[in-house]
Amino acid sequence: MVSIRRRVVITGGAGFLGSHLCDRFLQEGYEVVCIDNLLTGTLDNIAHLFGHPRFRFTCYDVTNFLYVEGSVDAVLHFASPASPKDYQIYPIQTLKVGSLGTHKALGLAKAKGARFLLASTSEVYGDPLVHPQSEEYWGNVNPIGVRGVYDEAKRFAEAMTMAYHRYHGLQTRIARIFNTYGPRMRLDDGRAIPTFIVQALRGEPLTVHGDGLQTRSVCYISDMVEGIFRLLHAEVVEPVNLGNPDEISIVALAREIREIAGSSSPIVFAPLPVDDPRVRRPDIHRAQELLGWEPAVSRREGLHRTIEDFRRRLGIATR
Ligand code: UDP
Repeated sequence: MVSIRRRVVITGGAGFLGSHLCDRFLQEGYEVVCIDNLLTGTLDNIAHLFGHPRFRFTCYDVTNFLYVEGSVDAVLHFASPASPKDYQIYPIQTLKVGSLGTHKALGLAKAKGARFLLASTSEVYGDPLVHPQSEEYWGNVNPIGVRGVYDEAKRFAEAMTMAYHRYHGLQTRIARIFNTYGPRMRLDDGRAIPTFIVQALRGEPLTVHGDGLQTRSVCYISDMVEGIFRLLHAEVVEPVNLGNPDEISIVALAREIREIAGSSSPIVFAPLPVDDPRVRRPDIHRAQELLGWEPAVSRREGLHRTIEDFRRRLGIATR
């Protein structure tokens, strides 16, 4: 019997973003094939999905030839270490999954006649000389710096995706994802939000890098998932920025987290990592116009929900 059910492959499906996407596509009635080699992803993120009749998990490194049985309607390529700490621990895997992995995921989409969506990143803009960053900006990336392994892999991935679109006529989508946070982020992934939350909840000092005046614009996970879902179904080949333009300095973010967590931890200053971008804020006009999308969850609300999730996972009771 021919299945009429829609079917998606999500690489990196056991990661933070990927696992929330698995949830969303299952809710929408899709069959979900989640592929992950668990390098930085974890089965904890998808444990609740085992036994779901439309969910399948394969532990596999997508830098190798990728085979999936049966029909596939869409391939979402989310596999990659994604925090600066992780991609500096795994520089070669990061380069491989962004380059070879993207090639394999594109090849799978082509073989299946499926739509392809690339998880790209605001890191393609590097340390931006234009603020806020619109999709037209080509970026300011140090190719040989410590962050280059991620930035250049994603830039290559975008180029490869466009080549498959132009040369093979593949239906492709590119999401340029800005800093995203929420429940299930790894407690030790090294990023600002999880680090500050864990420090605040444990009563340890919050480690702000540099003078803390560098900025980021942070998007709550449910908003990001909505944007990605809409982008997949829209007719937009050009890259689309997805993120929350609500910009904040890192030291102000640390204070906000400390306050919401009800913590009295001190804030201490640590050296600024090499090539740490000075500013970052998405221009989301394209997403607003073409997807009718914009973030709906305020930073306070998002942080509150995230802190509750961290409390639970750390075994710290709600006050
Ligand atoms: N940061 C910080 N303290 C930490 C972790 C990160 O001050 O314990 C800073 C980091 O140097 C950067 C910003 O917070 O300026 C955001 O870092 P993150 O790792 O979350 O992501 P990035 O946007 O740099 O990829």
